[in-house]
Formats: sequence, structure tokens, C-alpha cells
Amino acid sequence: MLQLFLKPTRDAPIRRGHPWIFSGAIERCEGDEQIVDVADVFDSKKNWLARGLFNPKSQLRVRLLTWQKETIDQSFFAARLAQALAFRSEQLGATNNAYRLVNGEGDFLPGLTVDRYADYFVCQFYTAGMESFKDEIVAALSALAPTAGIFERSEGRVREEEGLEPSLGVLAGEPPPETLTIEENRHRFLVDLRRGQKTGFFLDQRDSRQFLATLAAGRSVLNCFAYTGGFSVYAFAGGAKEVVTFDSSLPALELAEKNLQLNGFADSPGEVIKGDAFAYLKETDSKFDLIVLDPPSLAHRRGDMDAASGGYKFLNLHALKLLNPGGILLTFSCSQHLPRELFQKVVFGAAVDAGRKATIVKQLGHPIDHPVSLHHPEGEYLKGLALRVID
Ligand code: SAH
Repeated sequence: MLQLFLKPTRDAPIRRGHPWIFSGAIERCEGDEQIVDVADVFDSKKNWLARGLFNPKSQLRVRLLTWQKETIDQSFFAARLAQALAFRSEQLGATNNAYRLVNGEGDFLPGLTVDRYADYFVCQFYTAGMESFKDEIVAALSALAPTAGIFERSEGRVREEEGLEPSLGVLAGEPPPETLTIEENRHRFLVDLRRGQKTGFFLDQRDSRQFLATLAAGRSVLNCFAYTGGFSVYAFAGGAKEVVTFDSSLPALELAEKNLQLNGFADSPGEVIKGDAFAYLKETDSKFDLIVLDPPSLAHRRGDMDAASGGYKFLNLHALKLLNPGGILLTFSCSQHLPRELFQKVVFGAAVDAGRKATIVKQLGHPIDHPVSLHHPEGEYLKGLALRVID
């Protein structure tokens, strides 16, 4: 096992439980520092601090797994997974069979996400360290709950930074069907685990969808950036008088149509429209009582923030203009680099420029299966505001 010694003073965040160590904090290594390995981390006075996974190719050299001297093996992962599952089953299990089982740092398993969709698991290994324990994690998952199959969708920017290629395919059991039916708060949705966005469904918006249902009665709704129509189904279930489901992705909207059918809303008033939401919001003559604005992340890097803020402002400004008096806007940002306070400022600027006065009726965010570690607040990415326009 590799041993890493930190520079003086660089141990403080680690002692407080932060799970990341960048290359600049490391004074020296003992052992083979060319390979991906489990590493023990010491302060500059050789006191043992924590244990994690080391990747020489990443600037983020170590992601810590534990602050105890425990062996990192299949039973270590099995215990973490069992803990994660217990809370999800207790809180969500009665009315949901799809949820995020492992949320990386939020479940003290940095570099790993696992989503459960009925009897399938979808894994994302983001780091070389986690990837090196793939077999153990797959074995632990197989033993955790009855599964038809375990599928992998490891892709994205973090993998590139780790020096890893995308990796997709079956890890165990049967390949997933073309579409799988999941149940969320007693609504049913078709999910494409192989080609759908994220791992197939935006599990992180479950609570906000449920909240929307409580606001929908008698209202005309625009579900903008609708993906497969999650908010639309809840809007109809909550008694919306009409719902426009808008997205730029044809495959997503095909599933949205099917999801409306599946929940008995095929003939309910409304439309499913494919197009560019930026253009639509600016140009449409329609007015709505309730708008959901859930765009994809507009800031992928810290450096994109100015352009991203401009994008969010544009969307919110035009959405606010389309609201009838007393109307409600549920507006979101899933950009990790845009903190909540800044997002609120951007939305405030949009309201000022739109000439609307609004109140915040609720702060929205991660549901309980997307926990954020208190020691790693950077893990918060999803933030939302429910606004009520007064005039
Ligand atoms: N609210 C959805 C998730 C939205 S994800 C849910 O609860 O499931 C963001 C969506 O924005 C994706 O479906 C993507 O296809 C869509 N999208 C991206 N760019 C777009 C654009 N310019 N106009 C309209 N939709 C867009």
C-alpha cells in the first residue's frame, strides 16, 4: 500500500473530514507512485490520518474512503452499500422502486454512483481508484438485493481527467430491456437505461415533481426542459387544466408521450412540443399559470460562470414574462459551479428586468437519496426556487 505524507498545515481539511487531496498538498510518497492504489495518508509528522484511493494521473490525487484503519475490500463496500440501501428503502421503498443508491461523496464513496431502477442497478465509476474495485463492488451489489442485471454507464468529464475512456455495458446478469417501467410516488415512467440522459431518469427531481403536483390544480402549466415528461405527469395528477411539455430531444419526447399515456393522461389537454426553449420562451404568445424551468447544466467549469449566468438570466426573464398574475415559477440550476446565493441573484436580476415582483415560496433541492456530505459541501449541485409572481 502506498504511503503519502502531507505538507505541513495541509492536514487540517483532512482531519475535518474533507475527502479530497490535490497533488499540491503532498510532500512525498513511499511506495510505487506510478500506479492506482489504496493509499494511507499521514501528516507531516507521520501521524496516520485516513485511507483512500490514489491516482497518479489526476491532479485530484486521493479521494478518501475512511478515517479508520479498515481494509478496503468487498466487505468494506458491502457494508457501505447496505447502509445506503437501508435508508433509501426506509424512506422511499414503499412508493418508489427507483432511486440513487449511492451518491458519491454524499455516501462516503467518492467516485461512484449507483442508481436503482426496479431490479436493475446502473453504476458509474468516475475514478480510476473506484474502477480498480469494480469486481468487488459488482459482487457486493449482486449480494445486496435480488437483481436482474447490473449495467455500467461510466462516462463524462471526470473520467477524462482521471485518464479513463468511457465504459458502457453489462456488468452482471441480463442486459436491460429497451425501456423499463419504474414507479415513482405511484406514477409510472418508462426509462431507457442504455441511451437515456444521465442514467435514464432525473431521479434528483422527485421531490420537486411531488411539490409541483400540490400547486397544479386548475392551472395551465408549461413544463420547459421536460425530458421524458416527469413534471407533466405530476401536473396532470395534481389537476392541471392544461400542460405543455417542451424539450429539444425527440427520443425524450417520444417517451414523454408514452409516459402520459401510461398514467392515463393521453387525452388530457395540452401539447408536446419539440424545439429550442430559449427561442420558444422569447417568442411564444402563450401565457401560463405555472412554469417549470429545469435546463441542463449551463456551466460545466468554473470559468463558464459568466456565460452560464447570462443563460439562466435569459431563461428566467422570459419565463417570468409569460406568467399570468399570481403565477408560479419553479426554476432550477443543476450547475455545481453556480452556488445557491448566486443563482438567486441571477433570478432576482431576471425579475427586475422582466418588471415582475415575486416572492420565494420554497427553496428546492436534492431529495434524500442524493445526500450531500457535510464535509464536502461542493457536492451540492441541484438548487431551485419556487417563486410566486405578485403582479
Ligand atoms: N425536468 C426533467 C429533466 C430535465 S433535464 C425531469 O424531471 O425529468 C434537461 C432537459 O433539457 C433534457 O431533456 C434536454 O433534452 C433538454 N434540453 C437541452 N437543451 C435544450 C434546449 N435548448 N431547448 C429545450 N430543451 C433542451
